[in-house]
Amino acid sequence: MSDCVFCRIVAGEIPARIILKTDTVLAFHDLNPQAPGHALVIPRRHIATLNDASESDRAILGDLMLAGAEVARILGFAESGYRTVTNCNPDGGQTVYHIHLHVLGGRRLSWPPG
Ligand code: 5GP
Ligand code: ZN
Repeated sequence: MSDCVFCRIVAGEIPARIILKTDTVLAFHDLNPQAPGHALVIPRRHIATLNDASESDRAILGDLMLAGAEVARILGFAESGYRTVTNCNPDGGQTVYHIHLHVLGGRRLSWPPG
């Protein structure tokens, strides 16, 4: 997916501030952070949205969540707390169509979201 910004980050064609790399996922700082800590965890393999994930993606979806918790530990807010979010399609606020987990922490987050 040469036109996908996150595939281009995986390929090293666009720079990113990497936090974590595994065989299956990559985590990096969001370009436009919405909290003192705001990371994105993405699968190396392109999946556009949560709607496009299928039974064969069960393991990678688990990897995203576990990597999200690891990122929270690395960034130092695992104990104080954080939020993981996956936006899906326009009403969900998705703007990059390569599935990703937001990991937000470092401040008290309000609920419900806007
Ligand atoms: P979405 O709106 O799809 O849930 O989240 C996309 C996120 O990707 C946004 O928070 C946006 O700031 C971030 N983003 C978009 N382009 C880039 C980029 O090139 N590099 C990084 N690090 N983050 C990006
Ligand atoms: Zn992609």
